[in-house]
Amino acid sequence: MQGAAKPASNNPPSATNARKFFGRGGVLSRWHPNYEFRPGQLEMAEAVESAIEERKHLIVEAGTGTGKTLAYLVPAILSGKRIVVSTGTKNLQEQLFYKDIPFLQQHFDREIRVCLMKGRANFACRQKIYDAEKEPILSGMEEVSDFKIIREWERTTETGDRAEILQLPEDSTVWAKLDARRDTCTGQKCMQFERCFLTQMHQRAAASDILIVNHHLFFADLAVKEEDFGGIIPDYAAVIFDEAHEIEEVAGSYFGAGISNFQVLDLLRDVSALARRKLFDTPDLTSAIIQTQDLSDQFFALFPRVEGRTGFSSQAAFLAEHGNAYRSLLIGLDLLESNLSLVHDAPEELIPLVRRLRFLRDTLKFWMESNTRELVYWIERRGKNGIYLQATPIDVSKLLEEKLFAQMDTVILTSATIAVQGSFDFAQKRLGLKNNRSALVPSHFDYQKQALLYIPQHLPDVRSPGFTAAAADEIVDLLEYSEGRAFVLFTSYSQMKQVYERVSFRLPYEMLLQGTAPRTALLEQFKNTPNCVLFATSAFWQGVDVPGDQLSCVIIDKLPFAAPSDPIVEARVALIREQGGNPFYDYQIPQAAIALKQGFGRLIRSKTDRGLLALLDHRITSQRYGQIFFDSLPDYAFTIKKPEVERFFRNGGDGGTQ
Ligand code: SF4
Repeated sequence: MQGAAKPASNNPPSATNARKFFGRGGVLSRWHPNYEFRPGQLEMAEAVESAIEERKHLIVEAGTGTGKTLAYLVPAILSGKRIVVSTGTKNLQEQLFYKDIPFLQQHFDREIRVCLMKGRANFACRQKIYDAEKEPILSGMEEVSDFKIIREWERTTETGDRAEILQLPEDSTVWAKLDARRDTCTGQKCMQFERCFLTQMHQRAAASDILIVNHHLFFADLAVKEEDFGGIIPDYAAVIFDEAHEIEEVAGSYFGAGISNFQVLDLLRDVSALARRKLFDTPDLTSAIIQTQDLSDQFFALFPRVEGRTGFSSQAAFLAEHGNAYRSLLIGLDLLESNLSLVHDAPEELIPLVRRLRFLRDTLKFWMESNTRELVYWIERRGKNGIYLQATPIDVSKLLEEKLFAQMDTVILTSATIAVQGSFDFAQKRLGLKNNRSALVPSHFDYQKQALLYIPQHLPDVRSPGFTAAAADEIVDLLEYSEGRAFVLFTSYSQMKQVYERVSFRLPYEMLLQGTAPRTALLEQFKNTPNCVLFATSAFWQGVDVPGDQLSCVIIDKLPFAAPSDPIVEARVALIREQGGNPFYDYQIPQAAIALKQGFGRLIRSKTDRGLLALLDHRITSQRYGQIFFDSLPDYAFTIKKPEVERFFRNGGDGGTQ
């Protein structure tokens, strides 16, 4: 169900405040099957409650096992105000909506009106589905078969959310042709507007008290609210960000600008398809489309073809050499627009296409001709042919201060990993958060008993050529002790592959490698295969939950400093230096400390979990800055002696060492 959760008829009277809900003898103690009083949960809930009531901003780090989800949901519900809850992932969104809210509904005597909101690309566009039946847009048997699935489902679904169609492949190319992105949407002019899944989601949202969104949707909405079209999230009194350590990156991507050759290609395809369907294709228009396509291919081919993200600060030199190709593409886009303006009795669907064309042309001009010091310009090659030109704000703190914190009475940021050495200075500075309250709520777990942190001292320095071979040998030993049941996490893809090749044939356990199957499929396989080992990079450092024995060991190869060659990191480092700061201490170490805490956080997910954490990078014990990492991690038992690791597992992974 997507909308309001219904109260059970025999509900107990609701609590009226957080203490009556979470406190000893409170509602939760009477109803929760495994109730255990968690002082941290009550502390957080009261902090959230008073921040909403007294209109203050709040930042909270709540260690794993605190029960932080309920600690913010309950005060949000009790406030009676409309509150947005924004999560880092769609998975967490769904967990809140399908698990936590229905659970809470049992403890409230009134209906909790809640709406799960996702971005437009998650929903089917009914109009596109109906058009697809008339227009041959499908290519190949696979697309025809996927279309049949979608067509059948569209007749019965109440939400139009693709998450419902389990049999549709994750990378279905048909879905991209039928989703409800703004690109071709005619809004109120559409014949399906009243029945449109987005219209219905907006109606549910307008009638709800709790809106569950994700950071991407939230910041896309915040960025769009500035424009004429308006946002999609209705007005709200407060916003709560869970997994708030991810906000800087997500906000940066929405307050920047970007254009790709694929966007131009998609636009031309859509224009062409509409012209055929609505019978306004003329030889002139067809030739303008073909010409623009050629000019776009020529222009984008001029950018360097290196893998990954590359900084690009030489627009002037580029224009001096390739100005003709750039200007020709602009002329091509202008010519196409003139052709479209000549269409007699233009159909409504043409309006969003022309708007898109202008937007792409303006973005291209901005990217090539603006020289804003606040932005870092970079190029990314994706797949075989994708070229993305991006501009990202180097520092989002001022933007967030202006557009978020200054506009809202209450913004609550929470995460299990947002403090460094027990302080919020780093997060507050990066995000532009001022005059806020804060709370540091310790974990509910006994880390001294549950986890052993091992830092081997005998391995070569991580930067030396011998490290990979030595790390592989060490990993084999550790996996033997733990009998597999491990995540081996890497800071780089190439290191992951090299170590995997050295380790995978030496042990009798199933070894999974990131990239060989979709993330969710690998995770399922890991959970269902005894003694399994997964080799992975940052995709598995967060948002992964494997409670129990199946995950008893997490090995990390290096301190997770962000790659200094990444253009955004490079620009941030340069800016901090220019402002008189020390980028290593002010940015790189705190960022890596939070990432390390995230990675290790995969291991202990419940009070009964036990296991080993190993970091193969002894800079943490040999360098002065290592203390910052130690001070930021939970209080794990600690050793540098390998025999103690062996003993730890021999004793059933129970109890730490001295
Ligand atoms: S209103 Fe837009 S998204 Fe909805 S069905 Fe119509 S065209 Fe599709």
